Amino acid sequence: MMMKHPLLIKTMLERSRKLFPKKEIFSRCFEKDHRLTYGDMHKRVCRLANVLQSLGAQRGDKIGTFAWNNHRHLELYFAVTCSDMVLHTLNLRLFPEHLIHVINHAADKIIFVDEDLIPLLERVSDQLTTVEKYVILTDKEELPPTRLSPALHYEKLLADAPETFEFPDDVDENSPAGMCYTTATTGLPKGVLYTQRSIYLHSLVQALPDIHCLAEQDVLMPVVPMFHVMAWGLPFSAAWLGTKLVMPGRVLTPDALCKLMEQEKVTISAGVPTIWMSILQHLEAGNKYDLSALRHVAIGGSAASANMIKLLGKFGINVFHAYGMTETSPVVLASRLKSYMKEWGEDRQYALRAKQGLLLPGLDMKIVNNEGNEVAWDGKEMGELCVRGPWIAGAYFDEPERSKENFRDGWLYTNDMVTIDEEGFVLIQDRAKDLIKSGGEWISSVDLENVIMIHPAVAEAAVIAIPDPKWQERPMACVVLKAAEKDKVTEADILAFLEGKVAKWWLPDKVMFIDEIPKTSVGKFNKKALRERFG
Ligand code: AMP
Repeated sequence: MMMKHPLLIKTMLERSRKLFPKKEIFSRCFEKDHRLTYGDMHKRVCRLANVLQSLGAQRGDKIGTFAWNNHRHLELYFAVTCSDMVLHTLNLRLFPEHLIHVINHAADKIIFVDEDLIPLLERVSDQLTTVEKYVILTDKEELPPTRLSPALHYEKLLADAPETFEFPDDVDENSPAGMCYTTATTGLPKGVLYTQRSIYLHSLVQALPDIHCLAEQDVLMPVVPMFHVMAWGLPFSAAWLGTKLVMPGRVLTPDALCKLMEQEKVTISAGVPTIWMSILQHLEAGNKYDLSALRHVAIGGSAASANMIKLLGKFGINVFHAYGMTETSPVVLASRLKSYMKEWGEDRQYALRAKQGLLLPGLDMKIVNNEGNEVAWDGKEMGELCVRGPWIAGAYFDEPERSKENFRDGWLYTNDMVTIDEEGFVLIQDRAKDLIKSGGEWISSVDLENVIMIHPAVAEAAVIAIPDPKWQERPMACVVLKAAEKDKVTEADILAFLEGKVAKWWLPDKVMFIDEIPKTSVGKFNKKALRERFG
């Protein structure tokens, strides 16, 4: 006989206002750094909610944001969702035609844009069919010159708006609150709509001790962008728990991030492997910072190798590996050792920590082979990971046909090929399309990359399939050497290094040295681009 109380984001905002009004938010903007408190944030969120109303936004409307990780973006996270509108975070790195598509497809009504990103939006604004107004996020007194029209000044709008606002209580917990498009392997990006309820539950569960282990006493720096799966939902969890937030803005160089971690005594951070790889190289080059406050960092979005986890550990950066997708809010798996595993040998521990880990409480999973049967928990048999649960999408937004590919019988088919061991640790072997089929046998490109990246001269490596008349497909490695090692390492050196570490028939047919691995709009290896170039 419990109350039927809706799960609403408003609860988070209210808690941070009432219990943690003195707790700080650090925000790096284009022109200067800001410090404000959750108390200040609440007042600004109320002003912003009034502004949204005065601009004609109504419940259910989509409000776009085109911004870095900063306090104004955070204010939008709460003002929009708590007003029963939908926050559509636009990925800054989308190609123009994809950007045009996602804004028109979602039917964004207003777009809030960071001043330094104005040119990117100007390039496409002529083709936007639903946007009525642009609001510029800036510290400048006057608006920077822009072709966006009409363009309004965020701070001036806020200054003129009342400081109180009654957020609606009669919001259905299943109403949409957030939106993010995922880059499809073919065709245009597909939209995922998060609900009040899904964000609420995901924010709560991911804060648990065996996942982010987030507490009031922490200082959290999400490096993962607020335009990609809502910064993994971390801003919501932080505000709810009263955790100090450090918003790093647009400059994500290793030096800028390390200095910020030192200065603000960051205890928890999160980001994709590329970010932490660049930090690792920076530290290996002899740059020194006091990162002693750091408890751990979550790495996800792409695979973090055992070697990377080990090397970061030497610099006091304790990594835990997590897995998720835009469709899953995102966190699905997190790799935390069970208590008795701490007694196990070091190599075994690292191998486990490099797996994507254990399913989060609240979710269901099945791993199915080609025949549709569940695979054995033996760490060997491969199958496709399927998930379902309260923060897993059930379909793509307004895409009934394309939804059928991934959503079937109440499950999300992730396209990720995995194994699961006796302890329940899931290991992503590959994206289904990235696996290499050589003579009828599978080669995991991810496994091969991880071994190549152990080579001390290698900064990054991506392995793709190239067509082969005899074996159908063979692996080719695209390798980026560390700056100091350029031209000192040959194809034969890499192959000699791999010998004995992988099966002989896994050895790449070709090693290609390139300057940079092309990345997708969210910083993952863009194997599609590599295949187009070399395949
Ligand atoms: P996105 O929706 O852009 O976040 O991409 C989701 C995809 O990223 C997943 O389906 C995986 O293929 C990949 N991914 C996410 N996290 C990891 C991880 N920890 N290890 C390996 N691949 C990952």
